[in-house]
Amino acid sequence: MRRHSTVILSGVTFFSRPVHCQYSLLGCGWRGPHHEVNSHEQQCQHPNHSGAQVFSHLQRQAENVEEASKIFTQIMSVLSFEKITFNDLQLKPYRTDEFIHKLFYETSRFSALSYQWVIKARLNDNQKDPHLTCNRFITYQLIVKSKPSSPMVVHFMILRGPFGDMRVNPHICQFEFTESNTESPFFALPLPDSAECNKLLAARIIDFRLMMGMVTK
Ligand SMILES: [Zn+2]
Repeated sequence: MRRHSTVILSGVTFFSRPVHCQYSLLGCGWRGPHHEVNSHEQQCQHPNHSGAQVFSHLQRQAENVEEASKIFTQIMSVLSFEKITFNDLQLKPYRTDEFIHKLFYETSRFSALSYQWVIKARLNDNQKDPHLTCNRFITYQLIVKSKPSSPMVVHFMILRGPFGDMRVNPHICQFEFTESNTESPFFALPLPDSAECNKLLAARIIDFRLMMGMVTK
């Protein structure tokens, strides 16, 4: 969730956008309203840290950049597959019939790549009392409803799509569907934070786009 602080100047109210300290590259985690950034940066200690002190932070950043570029390359490669397709879908909440109802999400059936599919999602991997924790996350799986005649490797990812406002990070999942393996494992939906997860849950229906690509053997 983006927080804005309100500044009142001679009766005029406007929002001051949150900004990072300019030394965030050196590991400073300060984030605050724009009008406070100058006074913070004047007393920020990060420019005085030694190379050894900032090294592990820089190393972590380099790893993140490398990871991001790997995902980018994977997405580029999937977009070059012979068969790619997308569907704009909605996850709707349901409860299981068990004695203690469990919440889960499911889309309607949809067709893609000449098969029928459904996406299922759950909260905190079905842990007992997800409402009691403030660290919420969503995992999802892709299920093929018509039996594949031969094994097929499907790459898929969830995107915001034109009807939703999900701030999902780039990612690619992959699973080989066969006659006996019609359900992928649950993959984490990479949301930036738990607040984003709460925002999606509060909206009840989750709009998104599913991108799929298939390697034909
Ligand atoms: Zn700082």
